[in-house]
Amino acid sequence: MANMSAPLAAAVKQSLLTLGRYSRVLERMTFPGVAVLCYHGVRDNTLAKRTIPLQDLHIRTSTFMSHCRLIRDTCHPISLDDLRAALEGRARLPDRPVLITFDDGYRSVFRYAAPILAALNLPATIFVCSGPLADRRLLWFDEVAARESDVAVERWKAVDYYTWRASCAQTSPVAEDDPRALMSVDELHALGQIAGIEIGGHTVWHPILARASRDTQRDEIADNLLALAEWTGRPIRSFAYPNGRPGKDYNADTMETLAECGVDLAFTTGEQFATVTTAVLEVPRFVIRANTSDAELAHRLAYSWKR
Ligand SMILES: [Zn+2]
Repeated sequence: MANMSAPLAAAVKQSLLTLGRYSRVLERMTFPGVAVLCYHGVRDNTLAKRTIPLQDLHIRTSTFMSHCRLIRDTCHPISLDDLRAALEGRARLPDRPVLITFDDGYRSVFRYAAPILAALNLPATIFVCSGPLADRRLLWFDEVAARESDVAVERWKAVDYYTWRASCAQTSPVAEDDPRALMSVDELHALGQIAGIEIGGHTVWHPILARASRDTQRDEIADNLLALAEWTGRPIRSFAYPNGRPGKDYNADTMETLAECGVDLAFTTGEQFATVTTAVLEVPRFVIRANTSDAELAHRLAYSWKR
């Protein structure tokens, strides 16, 4: 479909899905590893286009529901504990393992995604930033995107930690009904009690860890894990690197610090399947954006994701 226009390719994929083509292909398929999906927010179906900056990180609830049905019906949803067992050689992975993850800790995940996950019996892991959550403030990139631009967000990611922190980390209070609000401590606690849901770390302030000294990285990681453990009543053993690009957004200091803090699985945005030989502190994920339809997800699972 490489030569087709985007709308035509989307229409073709939608009809292939409707005709059951993707299901039939997937049913016979063995993935090269785990497809770990990285979502962010889930938005109300009625939220108009371009209401919030970076809206393509917030998938419509109806789209998320269709993704979950596709995963349940054509793949094998697994939990982080299933992945741990496979990486440690204690269990085999199913043929088409899919692991659902969310980054940042948006309230919308609690409000819209958790009921769908529970209804369809799908495990998931949610990586949470503790600073803006506790302070009831915007995440820094949501604030900078609104105040400056999406391009400015990318510029700030390249700046050293201390300059960034002085200019970006102290954000505005967020209204509780804002789609960019993070969940409350009570909501996080409730989410952490649901069977199949694991809460993981994502730093206190969502910095680019590679721009910080080892000591500062340790503060961002250890304080985050401690707060989440206190709020959920459980030890926190997994982590997702903010921004997550291997070789760019974190470094050897980050991985050593995670290991010292008891983290046994850490996730990147490395955009490939996670195999049983994957390094446990660099597990790749596929980032899912709001315009990814169920047909597009099926197409990627069946064909287009590199294998
Ligand atoms: Zn994040």
